[in-house]
Amino acid sequence: MEKKEVSKKIELNITGMSCASCAAALQNSLSTTKGIAKASVNIATEKASVEYDDGVLAVKDIIRVVEKTGYGVLSEADSADEKDKSEEEFEKARKRLIYSSVLSGTIMLLMMIHMFIIPVPGYLVMIALIGFPVIFVTGRHVHHGAWKALMNKRPNMDVLVSMGSLPPYVIGLAGLFIEIQTFIEMATTIMTLHLVGKFLEARAKGKASQAIRKLIHMGAKTANVLRDGIEIQTDVKDLVTGDVMVIRPGEKIPTDGLVTEGSSSVDESMVSGEPLPVTKKPDDEVVGATINKLGMMKVKVTKVGKDTFLSNVIRLVEECQGTKVPIQEFADRITGYFVPVILFLTVFTFASFNIFPEFHRSIIQWGAEFLPWINPDLPMLTLSFVTATAVLVIACPCALGLGTPTALMVGSGIGAEKGILIRNGEAVQTMKEIRCIAFDKTGTITMGKPDVTGIKTASDIRENDLLMYAASVENASEHPLAHAVVEKALGENIALIEAKEFTSISGLGVEGKVDGSHILIGNRKLMSERNISFTAFEKDLSDFENDAKTAMIVSKDGTVIGILAVSDPVKKNSAQAVAELEKMGIRTAMITGDNKRTAEAIAKSVGISHVISEVLPDGKVNEIKNLQDKFGMTAMVGDGINDAPALKQANVGIAIGTGTDIAIEASDITIVRGELDSLITAVKLSRATFRKITENYFWAWLYNAVAVPVAMLGLLHPMIGAGAMSLSSLNVVYNSLRLKKVNIEPDFLSGSDRL
Ligand code: ADP
Ligand code: MG
Repeated sequence: MEKKEVSKKIELNITGMSCASCAAALQNSLSTTKGIAKASVNIATEKASVEYDDGVLAVKDIIRVVEKTGYGVLSEADSADEKDKSEEEFEKARKRLIYSSVLSGTIMLLMMIHMFIIPVPGYLVMIALIGFPVIFVTGRHVHHGAWKALMNKRPNMDVLVSMGSLPPYVIGLAGLFIEIQTFIEMATTIMTLHLVGKFLEARAKGKASQAIRKLIHMGAKTANVLRDGIEIQTDVKDLVTGDVMVIRPGEKIPTDGLVTEGSSSVDESMVSGEPLPVTKKPDDEVVGATINKLGMMKVKVTKVGKDTFLSNVIRLVEECQGTKVPIQEFADRITGYFVPVILFLTVFTFASFNIFPEFHRSIIQWGAEFLPWINPDLPMLTLSFVTATAVLVIACPCALGLGTPTALMVGSGIGAEKGILIRNGEAVQTMKEIRCIAFDKTGTITMGKPDVTGIKTASDIRENDLLMYAASVENASEHPLAHAVVEKALGENIALIEAKEFTSISGLGVEGKVDGSHILIGNRKLMSERNISFTAFEKDLSDFENDAKTAMIVSKDGTVIGILAVSDPVKKNSAQAVAELEKMGIRTAMITGDNKRTAEAIAKSVGISHVISEVLPDGKVNEIKNLQDKFGMTAMVGDGINDAPALKQANVGIAIGTGTDIAIEASDITIVRGELDSLITAVKLSRATFRKITENYFWAWLYNAVAVPVAMLGLLHPMIGAGAMSLSSLNVVYNSLRLKKVNIEPDFLSGSDRL
């Protein structure tokens, strides 16, 4: 996973891409540029993410490559009001659409009158005049894009539409001078249908990216802070860490912080998907953009700007939408050749009609019997021209290019709303092949908030002394077990002594000097290693362990003075979640550093069949490898820092809870809320998203595979072709949007109070 030092990453907002083949072309010219290690261009988000060597080239060189390929880059300043820009674009598209529809509609009306009622005098001149702005004004950007693409020898969608509308119009004009069929109606209809399609597509894409916009607008705008004891209102942007905010009931919490005074219950559903309000008291963390329900609180600001939880969520979702799903690679590769192939087929069709006129006329005559739009009496040259145009305009590379990005956009958006952050598209695909999910025990299966629930002392030791020695050492440790011991001692009002020479022995225990005595706390392994006998406590140890408690042995200067047992209750949904995973055909396993008996007792209580215990932190990677050998693709769910390598080794790494930043960075999916039902939702969401992607590809391929040959035979009118093409790409986008309707809740929660 190491990255080269010199490699830098940048994300650019690209303008002027009309469809997937543009994205393919740009990606191709970027990736073949010297100094660029990796480039990925996404048509749905209109973003290019580029990894480059900044020793070889600078950002401005990358921008130059983009511009040379025929597209533009929005500068930082422009990107800031990107929303206005895209709204402007949208407005433009709408205007174009209205003008061209009205004009084309008029032409159609005239055509009807001319053909079926009475010949309109000066018909041709009239439609030529009305059609002119449709082709050359509302369609200007299409020809412009086509021209640039052709100059770069990377033909795109614009080329198809431009060639499908310009020649018919121009040849149609010839009808003013010679006796020839007019194609002007056809030209304007093709252009108008293209504009309609693009407009609807833009609108649907807007809906697909709604989730991100919702997140961006979720944050509060202003905050009330105490400055020199006086409460003033300030912009959230001006907050700094350490500020104390005053938050009243009903208000949005402006940014992440720590409660210093007051208590309340907070609606965190927008960040975690958890519908029930969460109680907050001093020292609890609160997250920006969540809503304070009940009481007034003072909250010290801990994170601002890009560091806040919300900013991170937005970043993760955006990153995900910019990534690729492996299944997409093939389609992307094809899209690059798609337009040239269609251009070739167009020429081929035109030639074939003129070389084998009898053959083609017989097919046309056969089709004319049941297809009302076919006129078999047209001269061969006219037929070949109409057919070639139909081939041009019916082919739809867009449907192929939009399949993955739109589904990923909708899927990651749904996830973000439910507190499931998918970090890359690959995970969506891998997830469906997962055969085993391995869980970390502490904090994943269990709450991670252990309590001391059992104490045994040697006969000459008082309970409080045992606690004093143990807690004094554990006070220096970060481990949840350590917290439990310290809490217990403080609860008993025991004064702690500062431990000297504290050492933490990873996965085994801790040691230190308290009041001159050497104190060692840890598991059996640790005691055996130090040759400390604990036979007197063996029975107590096993009793605690069979009771799913974790027992720690405490020794003072080489003699065991007692044992402390800690229980960490399992999360309320763990058992049901495990059962449902097994029902879905996914094996479950638990990996823990805890002892075998405790581990097995806990595993049994939640229904996990495969238990791997007494694993040292650095052994988890190996255990994941073993599971991969045994079951196949394996996901790992964990929280702690020492889980990061295992999360990376797993085929899908899932970080759970508001876990440490490191685990989140190492993971492919992050579950914000600690409950395991979110895990089921994550599995179902990934599967549903991937299914959408495959469906999209299926329809897109089917469409092109059927439509293009039928058009080549001359059985489709170009106007139908243009309509079908627009519908085909719309179908893909709308199919992705339907992902919102899929039920991804765990079965065991369906029908309960949760939506
Ligand atoms: P987990 O898989 O639960 O995260 P760890 O690797 O963190 O397990 O710890 C494994 C075992 O090491 C614990 O069950 C405990 O016996 C012992 N241990 C770890 N840290 C401490 C500590 N601070 N105090 C006492 N025992 C500890
Ligand atoms: Mg742990």
